[in-house]
Amino acid sequence: MGLQHHHVAATRLTIDVQLGPPDGRPFELEPPKEGSYRNDHPHYFGAVDLPPFLAALLTRQMADRHPASCDCGDDGCGGGRFLFLNKRGGHHLHGTYATHPWEKAVTGWVPARRPRRGRSSGAPARPVMVDMAEGWPGVPVTPTWPAASGTTWAPPVVRGLPRYDQPVVDARAVDCPRCRAAAGKACTSPSGDKHTHQPRIAAARAAGHIRELGLTSWLPINPRMTPPQVTALAPGVAGRDRHPHDPHP
Ligand SMILES: [Zn+2]
Ligand SMILES: [Zn+2]
Repeated sequence: MGLQHHHVAATRLTIDVQLGPPDGRPFELEPPKEGSYRNDHPHYFGAVDLPPFLAALLTRQMADRHPASCDCGDDGCGGGRFLFLNKRGGHHLHGTYATHPWEKAVTGWVPARRPRRGRSSGAPARPVMVDMAEGWPGVPVTPTWPAASGTTWAPPVVRGLPRYDQPVVDARAVDCPRCRAAAGKACTSPSGDKHTHQPRIAAARAAGHIRELGLTSWLPINPRMTPPQVTALAPGVAGRDRHPHDPHP
């Protein structure tokens, strides 16, 4: 989690810090566990030589996601540009990293949630669904639909589950006439509620900011398979091929 841009030099990796504590702020860069430095100082074993596949993955990661400062602020952890931050620019927590994003990315499943007495009844594992409108690997949509069961399937119509099979209104494409949130920004309200205001949704719809999701799943697939083939193979996961004249219920 503490890996920074200056630690990676082509095929070699320097290890001189770890990020602690594992599960929360305030974060701080600390010496690596048991003093296990790996650098070119004569007292240590030298930087780690990376196998070619790992060097290639790190290079690709840095090209796709430019290493960036974290959101710890001025009195922060003391780090520079990190390779692995969460979507909001914060550090990942050890306690949740295994289920999100690791397990989702590796298995294509959102792990089952155990019931927690008095708080939630738990949930079975669900396929990771993504919107591929802007290309692979897509942007995960949450909450995701349950896995299909049986041979017949239709998009779930359940309270609280979005109809990803229907066109969505990009409300953030326009300013909000109610709270004055600028385009691209979330709506705000005095109560702290972040729901998008209805007048904004109506304005966006009227202005034609409507689009279809390119819905598919991260469940393992044949690497050469095209999105339409995925959709045809896994209708329970990937939505359905909708005829243009299908009624939208
Ligand atoms: Zn930080
Ligand atoms: Zn608003």
